[in-house]
Amino acid sequence: MYEVIVLFNGYSKKLNETTMDANCTCTLIKGPKLIIVDTMTAWDRDKLLSALMQHNIMPTDIDYVVCTHGHPDHTGNNNLFTNAEHIVGLSVHRGTIFFEKNFMSEDYKLCPGVKVVATPGHTAEDVTVLVETMKDGEKICYAITGDLFEKEEDISSPHIWKALGAPELLDSQYMMRQFIINLADFIIPGHGPMFRVTDNMREIINSQLSR
Ligand SMILES: [Zn+2]
Repeated sequence: MYEVIVLFNGYSKKLNETTMDANCTCTLIKGPKLIIVDTMTAWDRDKLLSALMQHNIMPTDIDYVVCTHGHPDHTGNNNLFTNAEHIVGLSVHRGTIFFEKNFMSEDYKLCPGVKVVATPGHTAEDVTVLVETMKDGEKICYAITGDLFEKEEDISSPHIWKALGAPELLDSQYMMRQFIINLADFIIPGHGPMFRVTDNMREIINSQLSR
């Protein structure tokens, strides 16, 4: 069984018309395999190392690094994890060796209960990590979505995610948001704390799609 631990809550705030302060949510998936999702900026090396230390994890212990997309606030410390396979958006590699994976035809199962699925929208190569596990005797699905969901607030205020995504992928992002919210119990968004999905949230997202 896997445990999903948010190491750092991401955030994003506009400083002025052309400048933003942002860092990603960074998540550890702990079980028979160790998986880290989104590695923040290159300036966060020390704080990431000490957060892992608190879980008695050395960076060389990590089996998989998943970056939900290739932006620098999600990939900054990938080079700490040199024993891991890296999945950066749709690119899968270990060092200089790249593996062909067709995410469109098949989800990529990392281990029982953990898979990576393509969720294009914010960028064409966005992925979401789905973790199915047990919590208090209940089956629970976590979706670690990267910027498919910027933060909980973007459900009622869609201009938040729309302003940051690729404009030509707007319809895709609408569809992928619907797909994910209908199957997840908890969402870990790209730039905000984890939240529990409610029926009301699903209704909002489903009605936005049929606009
Ligand atoms: Zn981001």
